[in-house]
Amino acid sequence: MSEIIRIENMSFEYERDEDREPVKAIRDLSLCVEKGSFTAIIGKNGSGKSTLAKNLNGLLLPTGGKVFVKGWDTADEEHIWDVRQTAGMVFQNPDNQLVSSIVEDDVAFGPENLGVDPVEIRQRVDKALSSVNMGEYKNKSPHLLSGGQKQRIAIAGVVAMKPECIIFDEPTAMLDPRGRQEIMDIIEELHDEGITVILITHFMDEAVRADRIVIVNEGRIFLDGTPGEVFREYDLIKSISLDVPMAVELAQRLRKRGVKIPEDVITSEGLVEYVCQYR
Ligand code: ADP
Repeated sequence: MSEIIRIENMSFEYERDEDREPVKAIRDLSLCVEKGSFTAIIGKNGSGKSTLAKNLNGLLLPTGGKVFVKGWDTADEEHIWDVRQTAGMVFQNPDNQLVSSIVEDDVAFGPENLGVDPVEIRQRVDKALSSVNMGEYKNKSPHLLSGGQKQRIAIAGVVAMKPECIIFDEPTAMLDPRGRQEIMDIIEELHDEGITVILITHFMDEAVRADRIVIVNEGRIFLDGTPGEVFREYDLIKSISLDVPMAVELAQRLRKRGVKIPEDVITSEGLVEYVCQYR
């Protein structure tokens, strides 16, 4: 696999008024993301996840170090649209991402801005809407839809721009459990179709669905590995007051009571499988 995103010694500071020190949100962080991979980024509130995400498609530019998307330096103005088209972003609040009063116009907005031919835009809109199971809503007003449906429209808007990578910044945070599940299924389908996925989440059961988890703490990478490798570090994760998936917590408690559960058991399904062997 080749890399699609390369972050080299990146730092990011938010300037504040005169006499206040800038906020160091990201500190000397380096990371590569492989094309076609599914990476979850987790960390406490304020650890720098959103700042990192916005630096991955040029919405923010690093104040130190470099970010490359498909080899383009995000600070290179000449390639900012190449960067934005390659790496799309989906945010937490779908209301802030919807711009039109008709669903299909909304989904067409991105490709229109990219100057895509109108005939092709129609095809892309239909395909993107069907990929999020919202084809039948194309003539509706987004404002009449549920939070989960609105988020699916926002995702379709990004998909219609044919990105190679989509960065999801807590896309399910405002949704009910059913809406969350639907969005996670769509994210997995997009990944299966070959799109590189970067998912920022504070739901551990979502993070375990990725093939790599990066824990960010105080603007730095704290842990990086497969879900199995990362959640094996139970004590380390707890030391920064971060949660672990429920199955990991339960397995740990069982171990303390003398039940030998392998460290790679990190999902509820895995735990059930393991325990049921001994019935
Ligand atoms: P997370 O997404 O992990 O919650 P953020 O990237 O939002 O973290 O924030 C990282 C740090 O930067 C925090 O200390 C936060 O208060 C600060 N921060 C975020 N946005 C701004 C801003 N626009 N101006 C000043 N400080 C900010």
